[in-house]
Amino acid sequence: MSGLESLLDRNALWAKHKVEENASFFSQLAQQQTPKYLWIGCSDSRVPATQVLDLPPGEVFVHRNIANLVVHSDMSCLSVIQYAVEVLQVEHIIVCGHYGCGGVKAVLDGGDHGMIDNWLGHIKDVQRLNSEHLSQLEGDERFDKLCELNVQEQVRNVCNTTVVKNAWKKRKSLTIHGWVYSLSDGILKELCCNRG
Ligand SMILES: [Zn+2]
Repeated sequence: MSGLESLLDRNALWAKHKVEENASFFSQLAQQQTPKYLWIGCSDSRVPATQVLDLPPGEVFVHRNIANLVVHSDMSCLSVIQYAVEVLQVEHIIVCGHYGCGGVKAVLDGGDHGMIDNWLGHIKDVQRLNSEHLSQLEGDERFDKLCELNVQEQVRNVCNTTVVKNAWKKRKSLTIHGWVYSLSDGILKELCCNRG
């Protein structure tokens, strides 16, 4: 694929196929979105939410950033969580990390990566909190474990947001899931689950 023209051509063809499959596909979607899930995932191009879940447009509300972090002062992520829970009324929030995450690897490798190190500092916190456990592992085992621990920590952060705590106080049905995706076989694995 080269150039933006081919992207626009691909889009036109995709839209045409969608209408051929279902004439009201876009008119239905244009009226409203009623996704059942909020997906908080990594920006990595190999982990697109709807594709790995095999769901069509309209089914998943998505927030992605480097290494799927939920930071208490990140207004973008917090706003997405609030909108998903209070307006869209999703009943499931999925924090999905993935093995082979570049953000996690950068932390394990150390060194200077410039501005992004400020963001990666949140993964360094996870590393420090689990240093005893991680020090018993080496190589890929340590890398995989930190990817998993990072997801579990971000699930904890979601649970500690005022939006989620308020939803649980009001006895809303809301479950926070921690999943990890394997780039090598395309399989999602559940790590933890919190219903409040
Ligand atoms: Zn990643």
